[in-house]
Amino acid sequence: MALKLYNTLTRKTQVFKPLQDNTVRLYTCGPTVYNYAHIGNLRTYIFEDILVRTLLYNNFKLKRVMNITDVGHLTADSDNGEEKMELGAKREGKTVWEVADFYTKTFMDDLKKLNILPPDIVCKATDNIKEQIELIHQLEKKGFTYEIPGDGIYYNTIKFKKYGNLAKLDIEGLKAGARVELVEGKKNPTDFALWKFSPKDQKRQMEWPSPWGVGFPGWHIECSAMATKYLGDHFDIHCGGIDHIPVHHTNEIAQIEAVTKKKWVNFWMHGEFLVLEKEKMAKSGDNFITLSVVESKNFDPLDYRYFCLSAHYKSKLNFSWEALEGARNAFKNLKNRIIDFRTDKKIKESGKKEKYQKKFLKCINEDLNMPLALAVMWEMLGDNKLGSNEKLDLLFYFDKVLGLNLEKVKEENVSDEIKNLVEQREQARKNKDWKRSDQIRDELKSKGIILEDTPEGVRWKKA
Ligand code: AMP
Ligand code: ZN
Repeated sequence: MALKLYNTLTRKTQVFKPLQDNTVRLYTCGPTVYNYAHIGNLRTYIFEDILVRTLLYNNFKLKRVMNITDVGHLTADSDNGEEKMELGAKREGKTVWEVADFYTKTFMDDLKKLNILPPDIVCKATDNIKEQIELIHQLEKKGFTYEIPGDGIYYNTIKFKKYGNLAKLDIEGLKAGARVELVEGKKNPTDFALWKFSPKDQKRQMEWPSPWGVGFPGWHIECSAMATKYLGDHFDIHCGGIDHIPVHHTNEIAQIEAVTKKKWVNFWMHGEFLVLEKEKMAKSGDNFITLSVVESKNFDPLDYRYFCLSAHYKSKLNFSWEALEGARNAFKNLKNRIIDFRTDKKIKESGKKEKYQKKFLKCINEDLNMPLALAVMWEMLGDNKLGSNEKLDLLFYFDKVLGLNLEKVKEENVSDEIKNLVEQREQARKNKDWKRSDQIRDELKSKGIILEDTPEGVRWKKA
């Protein structure tokens, strides 16, 4: 059954085949590490993980690269405003390098908690400055650049005939400042910085010498240079959030195709936004919800993953705590079913397994239709002809794509915090510290856990 994916470039759902052999070369735009990732960002990484898992499920091999933007992303996503990394460093009273290290680590931890498969190559913009300078140099040689004195080296978008094709931009209709902030000296509103000069009166923490002057690279050149370095000048899939279509990815294409004069990426794929009561998820204020915030409200990160699976990646997904609770309940129900199936020792061979495998494959291969795939899973669970052994087999098979860690579901699914409290209470009882032991019992009760002291030791259950 052929895998079909929606390609932003053609605006069509097309049969996907790797360009070379059986290996899919895939680039996903990574985080800007000046702050925690919010759950909106994480939705995009979950979508990309579903894509990765679906490719693997279809027996393709994969070479996957993700960048870490640790320099060059300005606050307005354009060429004005402060640089995000320097802003983060100022906010936290740390060096830019410390900030980058810290948030790269927290991001990687988030991926792990969400059971997102790690990319084969994770590359930092600051480790690839030479490649970025080289690409700008090639663009310069071909006449695509100009300098705005005191500001930087810019890409002259009018010189690239196909500029804006990905986003179907109405270049003629674009008034200066309509899409991007106006920068004095720009020849066209869509022009963008390739290299920004360091301010004359100030030493930046991150800056490098270049043929044009000391400074730092623009955000778009990073991805173009690194994707090409690791995946070549013609590869299979490039992904990101939907906001990247009109600027970031449009500019990435312009930078590479101006030099190579041929199509760079075969499939462009974009995940829709997670929205919060019709607002955009933001990296500040009340709209800033991280995975830690989710955990602090006693949700498991995988509850959030389940929640994301309930919407197609091309649809907006409305976040609310009630909706997340709904997902948690459905997921809990699924885990309870697994526990029940494990106690059933009867072995059945209904001959219906293949039918459900095919049905599931059809959903995921139809442009990653996860809501339908979940519906097939629930339909299968409700099919009385199937034995528990078959249901478990199918669930674990589907989980290669769902990524809900179903094989690891344990008898009672409690958080580490609860396990810790139970242990602490055992210790208190051993020490005959009855006051502390009662305190912990009450605390657990308030969290919905009831303790029973039996001759074999403590037992607990959910209220
Ligand atoms: P950033 O760290 O800002 O570069 O963003 C990382 C990724 O998250 C990019 O692919 C963005 O397109 C994506 N993104 C940003 N906001 C959201 C959102 N609210 N929902 C889904 N994806 C988002
Ligand atoms: Zn990128």
